[in-house]
Amino acid sequence: MTTENGWRQRYEPVIGLEIHVQLSTRTKMFCGCELSFGEQPNLHTCPICLAHPGSLPVTNEQAVRYALQIALALDCEIAPRSIFHRKNYFYPDNPKAYQISQYDIPLATAGRLGDVRIHRVHLEEDAAKLVHVSASGRIHGSGSSLVDFNRGGTPLVEIVTEPDLDDPATAREWLQLLRTTIKQIGVSDVNMEEGSLRCDANVSLRPVGADALGVKAELKNMNSFRFLERGINAELERQAALLDAEEQVEQETLHFDPRSGELTPLRSKEYAHDYRYFPEPDLVPLAPTEAMLSEARESLPELPASRRERYLAELELADKQATQLAFDADLGAYFEAALAAADGTTPKVIANWVTGELVASLREAKADDADPASSRVSPDALAKLAGMVERKEISTGAARRVLATLVAEGGDPTRIVEREGLGQLDDSGELEAIVARAVESDPEAAARVRDGNMKAIGPLVGFVMRETKGRADGGEVTRLIRERLGLG
Ligand code: ADP
Ligand code: MG
Ligand code: ZN
Repeated sequence: MTTENGWRQRYEPVIGLEIHVQLSTRTKMFCGCELSFGEQPNLHTCPICLAHPGSLPVTNEQAVRYALQIALALDCEIAPRSIFHRKNYFYPDNPKAYQISQYDIPLATAGRLGDVRIHRVHLEEDAAKLVHVSASGRIHGSGSSLVDFNRGGTPLVEIVTEPDLDDPATAREWLQLLRTTIKQIGVSDVNMEEGSLRCDANVSLRPVGADALGVKAELKNMNSFRFLERGINAELERQAALLDAEEQVEQETLHFDPRSGELTPLRSKEYAHDYRYFPEPDLVPLAPTEAMLSEARESLPELPASRRERYLAELELADKQATQLAFDADLGAYFEAALAAADGTTPKVIANWVTGELVASLREAKADDADPASSRVSPDALAKLAGMVERKEISTGAARRVLATLVAEGGDPTRIVEREGLGQLDDSGELEAIVARAVESDPEAAARVRDGNMKAIGPLVGFVMRETKGRADGGEVTRLIRERLGLG
C-alpha cells in the first residue's frame, strides 16, 4: 500500500525534542580537568573523571550559573533544591558505570520558548567519546573501539520540550531559535557538527482531531538541522504507512542514516534500560541562592525572541528581515554595531544594506568567511554608506561600487567616494547633456521608445550610467530620457 502525502489529511504529527548542550565552562562538571576539543586523546583526565576508587565529585559552580541562565532564558521555574542522581549503566564510555544526572527533581521546569513549552531543564555530565576503528585501520583484529576520556565529564544541560511541534520544518526552525538563544547567552558553542548541540526527536502520529497521543519512536542524535528535518519526515512516512496498514507503531529508538535515508532500530522498549536511579550520596542538593538567581537574570542579554519584537515594533523592519537579524547572532551583532554608529540614518535603510547588499557582496567576493564581522567592511563604514544613499549624496549604483571597494580593501566610504569621483551628479545640466548624447548615439532605440516600447530604454540608460560611472540616479535618468523624447 502506498502512502502519498495524503496521510496528512488523516494523521497529525506530534513531535517533542530532547536537546543536549555542552556548556563552555573552563573545567568539567565534577572535577578540575580542563575542557578540550580536538586535542590529543586522554590529555585531560584525573582520578575523578576516570572513576578511581575513593575520588569525590565537586559540582562546578560556573556550570550551575550557565544552566541557570539557560533555564531563565527559557522562562522556566527554578527548583529551590534539585537533586543529582546516579543513572546506572555499563558501557565503556563511562568508567564509573553510572552517569551523574538529575532525575525526579530537575534544576528547572515549566518553561517556554516561542510556541513550544519546555518540560524540564537539567544538569548532567557527558560520557567519554568512543572512536571506532575498522579492521582496515591500524589497530589489529577485526575492528576495535578506542575511548577518549577528554570529553568524559563535560557539563551538559539537557532540555526536554513538551510534544508541541507538529511539523518537521517547524521543529528545525524552533531548534534554530533555541540555538541562537543559547549562543546569545554565550554559554556554549552550540555547534551540531562538533556535538556541542545534540538533538533527539520523538515522533508520533495521531488521527486528526484526536486528543490522545499516538505511540512514539525516538530518533537519536540528529547531527545537523537538515538531517533533523529529513529524519522526522522519513519517520512520519514510515509511521503513516504502518497505520494505514492497520499495524502498530512500536515504541523504539531509531537511528536515521542521512546517506541512505534509512531508519534502523537501536533498541526497543522491551530492552529499555533499567537505570536503577538513586540519589548521588557524594553530592549535596543543588540550591541556588537568591544572589545567584538575580545575577543570572541580570546577566542575560537581549534574546532573539524579544529582539525580533523590538525590530518589528520600534525599528519597523519587515517581518522576514527582523527574523533574520534577530535569529542570526553574527549578523544581528553586526547590525546592532552599525545602528550604534549611525547618526540619523533610518534603521530600515541600514538593515537593507546589511541583509541585502553586504551579505550578497561578501558572498560574491567569495570571502572565506561570509561573516560580516570578520570582513573588511566595518559596521561604521556600512552605516556611513547607507546614510549617504539615504541623503542622496550618492546613487545606489555608486554605493554598490563603494561597497565592492570596502569588501576588497576596507576603508572609509567618504574618502572612497572622493577618490573615485562617485558623488551624485546633481548638476542637471551635465546630466541632460549626457542624455542628449545617449539619444543621438542610438537613434533606433530612441525611436522605439518614442513609439511606446519602454523596454527599449535599457541601452539608453546604460549609456548614461557608463558615461557617469554609475553616479547618476537611475530614476532621474529615465525621467530625463522620456522628457527628451517628448514623453515626459
Ligand atoms: P520517555 O519516558 O520515553 O523518555 P518522556 O515522556 O520523557 O518519554 O518524553 C520524552 C520526549 O518525548 C519529550 O520531548 C516529549 O515531549 C516527547 N513525547 C512524549 N510523548 C510523545 C508522543 N506521543 N509523540 C511525540 N513526542 C512525545
Ligand atoms: Mg526521557
Ligand atoms: Zn577530571
